Amino acid sequence: MTPKRTIAQIVATDMCIGCGLCEALTVGRVRMVMTPAGSLRPSPADGFTAREEALLVAACPGAVAEARVEAGNSTDPVWGAYRSMARAWAGHPDVRYEGATGGVLTALGMHALHTGRVGFVLHVGADPERPMRSRWVISETPESVRANTASRYGPTAPLAGLAAALDRDEPFAVIAKPCDLGAVHALSRSDPRVDELCALRLALVCGGQSRLSKSQAVLDEFGVGEDDVALFRYRGHGNPGPTVVETLDGRRFSKTYLELWEDEAGWDVETRCKFCPDALGEAADVASADIWPGGAPTGEDDGFNGIIVRTAAGEELVASAVAAGELVLDRPITPREFDDFQPHQVRKKEALAARYQGLTDSGIAPIETRGLRITELGRRLDPEHFGHERAGTRRRAERL
Ligand SMILES: Cc1cc2nc3c(=O)[nH]c(=O)nc-3n(C[C@H](O)[C@H](O)[C@H](O)COP(=O)(O)OP(=O)(O)OC[C@H]3O[C@@H](n4cnc5c(N)ncnc54)[C@H](O)[C@@H]3O)c2cc1C
Ligand code: SF4
Ligand code: SF4
Repeated sequence: MTPKRTIAQIVATDMCIGCGLCEALTVGRVRMVMTPAGSLRPSPADGFTAREEALLVAACPGAVAEARVEAGNSTDPVWGAYRSMARAWAGHPDVRYEGATGGVLTALGMHALHTGRVGFVLHVGADPERPMRSRWVISETPESVRANTASRYGPTAPLAGLAAALDRDEPFAVIAKPCDLGAVHALSRSDPRVDELCALRLALVCGGQSRLSKSQAVLDEFGVGEDDVALFRYRGHGNPGPTVVETLDGRRFSKTYLELWEDEAGWDVETRCKFCPDALGEAADVASADIWPGGAPTGEDDGFNGIIVRTAAGEELVASAVAAGELVLDRPITPREFDDFQPHQVRKKEALAARYQGLTDSGIAPIETRGLRITELGRRLDPEHFGHERAGTRRRAERL
């Protein structure tokens, strides 16, 4: 059980994504704390017992990532193992409207509770005390799942709630980012309660988590102090919906999704995201994505998700939600259509082998991947492009 690396090294090299597992597995002795740079990190990042460290390093997204593959699936080099891919949206118009895209994850979480498949859903929502920030939430009712709908940009640590979830000793669902669900899957190797109790795993397809500085920049632009914020909605209420800030004294500010993301230099995305080997939810039962042709919206629409159903449990949940009218399933999507919807994901997958070489060149251990086809996809890069990615990573890593 001797770990090859330590959590302190993972944090020092900025490969921590702040998933929260460090807090969960130390029963809160270690806390997820916001750093001055605007990331959630375990504090302290050392002083773990040998057993804690071994369990953490074996599951930490900064150290490992593994696809959860069931027999009999189709496999695509970019999109991984799947049973079906289709357009879908929430059957209830308000759930569809309020959700990040078409409200699919919310509808599936609500359906899992309505039908008694699970006793609660672990996910994230706005921190009521500081609504720009997010915190983990246990939703015991469909209404609570709905109240915590839509994408939260900025740091989130959903797995800080995993110990509380497992301790309840009843089946539950998790809605989270692919890296979070990768950690849940990896933890199942050492904790049998994970597969016994974590009955449904629902992922949002993810382009990267911005640091809190991105959210702070929005407030600065509006001239609002964080203490004055009553509501910070990143998207939803339309697809993609505006980013909306409301203040305690009744002022309201908003900007469109395209305005929010127009300045790529200001995105301030976490380092781990640049090396993310699974942003597509390959450890999930169902992954839910945006499907704008070319990868960006051209305006508002009614909300259309692309879903990737990866397991029998996911297939069964989707079929049941459709039969109950909680989900609308439209036409199938092909992997090559998904490439067009998510060109940034394809580019990143293909660049990773080179970026991992650049990390190794700099003496930083890259993420250990299993079943994610990183080497195979890396062969698609021509030698010049490969060398460029490798050298660029080495330069940036040496500045860490
Ligand atoms: C940081 C980030 C980057 C994204 N990048 C892409 C991308 O590149 N391509 C793409 O197709 N889609 C991306 N999305 C996903 C997209 O915004 C939608 O979440 C996705 O289409 C699912 O939509 P939905 O309507 O089904 O979700 P909803 O029904 O609105 O449900 C969203 C659920 O996710 C949970 N959640 C929200 N934010 C977080 C978070 N930060 N961490 C953990 N759980 C969270 C909520 O608690 C809620 O249960 C991103 C989302 C986030 C948060
Ligand atoms: S990614 Fe998660 S498990 Fe890894 S160091 Fe950060 S909080 Fe801990
Ligand atoms: S890009 Fe990957 S590492 Fe970054 S938040 Fe998304 S799933 Fe996690």
